[in-house]
Amino acid sequence: MTETLIRAENLSVGFQIGKGLFNKFTLKAVDNVTIHIEKGSFFGLVGESGSGKTTLGRALLKAVPITGGNAHYSDGEVEYDLEKISKEQLKDYRKRAQLIFQDPYAALSPRMTVRDIIAEPLEVMGITRTRAETDARVREIAAKCRLNLEHLRRFPHAFSGGQRQRISIARALVSDPKFVVADESVAALDVSIQADVLNLLKQLQKDLGLTFMFISHDLSVVAHTCDHVAVMYLGRLVETAPTRKLFAAPRHPYTKALFSAIPSLDPDDRGKAQKLEGEIPSPTNQPPGCKFHTRCPHAIDVCKSVEPQLEGDGSGHEVSCHRWKELMETIPA
Ligand code: SF4
Repeated sequence: MTETLIRAENLSVGFQIGKGLFNKFTLKAVDNVTIHIEKGSFFGLVGESGSGKTTLGRALLKAVPITGGNAHYSDGEVEYDLEKISKEQLKDYRKRAQLIFQDPYAALSPRMTVRDIIAEPLEVMGITRTRAETDARVREIAAKCRLNLEHLRRFPHAFSGGQRQRISIARALVSDPKFVVADESVAALDVSIQADVLNLLKQLQKDLGLTFMFISHDLSVVAHTCDHVAVMYLGRLVETAPTRKLFAAPRHPYTKALFSAIPSLDPDDRGKAQKLEGEIPSPTNQPPGCKFHTRCPHAIDVCKSVEPQLEGDGSGHEVSCHRWKELMETIPA
């Protein structure tokens, strides 16, 4: 039986923007999102930039405040209500939930050796007590991340992008977390290096029993890596399903448009990409009804006034669109 590690129910994250009584308004970066992440899974989160996926990842790490709904973490040893988490619990949660950054060039201090970069979280979180203990743990995780132990004495500038990302991964995993948010973690790398880093993440997931939230705008990477995918648009979840189901038959017009833009090797498929017209609207000025109606080629009157809710079919595939059934019959994926 699968167990749920992260359970977010109607989670919202809003930021107060502007000053003064009349110029203040709330930017809803994440709006009423419900997701369950199974223990040991690779959960993909996709959407254009500005869709709220990074903020959702940060909220689950308790790096930004949750302003509505709730999120729970339960790994079998501890159970935390992330909205009401105490200072003491948060200190422990920081060890259990970690982030791998996007940019391996900006994430590593150029003034620290690789050993010190990886060791820092152990010292800051008080996980190890002696230098020997710290060194042993650094060597152990460096080897797991396929880093040459000779390199621990060097500085980050001596390494390629792929090697730097492996240093970032080692730093994120040194505290022995259970939940890891990988935010566009291969986006800055060449395609050949991307495959290498993705294989490493999959191996680490297996060896260490990790649960990943994998945030990406690259659907081909998500297709090969994730077990389950959620699609976000303007802070809302518009579709979620096991990866195979979603890629075989996407239901939401936004998901279909994202999928149609994946480059194909089949010459017959080229040029069939469904271009998304216009920009994603500003989160400070969201359209009424379906948030996607300003860009959806299938929008009808009801879409402009009534917001569709996520609707499941009992197989784990959920979609929020008034017309998905009708569109599946008339416009196949
Ligand atoms: Fe398009 Fe209407 Fe469906 Fe929204 S609810 S995705 S506007 S058809």
